[in-house]
Amino acid sequence: MEKREMLYEGKAKRVYKTDDEKLFVIEFKDDATAFDGKKKGTIHDKGILNNKISEGLYTMLEAQGIPTHFVKRLSDRDVLVKAVKIMPLEVLVRNIAAGSLTKRLGIPEGKQLPFTILEFCLKDDSLGDPQINEDHIRAMELATDEQVAEIKKYALKINELLSAFFKARGITLVDFKLEFGLYGDQVILADEISPDTCRLWDAATGEKLDKDRFRRDLGNVEEAYQEIFNRLDK
Ligand code: UDP
Repeated sequence: MEKREMLYEGKAKRVYKTDDEKLFVIEFKDDATAFDGKKKGTIHDKGILNNKISEGLYTMLEAQGIPTHFVKRLSDRDVLVKAVKIMPLEVLVRNIAAGSLTKRLGIPEGKQLPFTILEFCLKDDSLGDPQINEDHIRAMELATDEQVAEIKKYALKINELLSAFFKARGITLVDFKLEFGLYGDQVILADEISPDTCRLWDAATGEKLDKDRFRRDLGNVEEAYQEIFNRLDK
């Protein structure tokens, strides 16, 4: 499937039309940003690793009954996906306190949460992706109540599946971000799941194997992404 007109360029990916209006190609870049774009850099071969990691995770999720946009990986950096309309919501799923939960609420990093916390953010870079609640979603007509219920059900199921999948590979799934899209009137999982969008800690040592290595200048960033990829096959 050939890439045609570029529709959108984001921080880490480009989205292209194809000759089939129901399909897009997503190209994964090596660019990395953090802190609302204030920190910029590149992570060597990140695009290739994230494309392949996301392929592995979406294939597993599809096999377990989660509808996703994934069709097939076309090359190192390109993946063929269903052409969805992305819903302007980021869905954050948290098992262990880290990141903004620590910064904003003072919960110590690493504290096991008594239950999974779901949060929504408005996907709007100019506003800094602010956190919103279900009333905001309803008032702004970002999604219907039925769609929100479906998104929450999928997010919790995806958390169960991913947590078990990573646990079997010696990795703790701390938190992650999901994006959903509309394919016709069907809500399906879109975007990517990778060390850019998850916090992944080595279960034995607690070593961070995700984008926090870039955010916090911890070094060995490429090696961490490579390690996650290597463990997927296990
Ligand atoms: N996350 C993401 N994109 C965003 C915001 C968050 O992929 O725009 C992921 C992040 O990598 C982490 C989880 O969502 O795995 C929770 O992020 P948090 O709210 O703690 O924000 P952060 O401190 O990472 O900006």
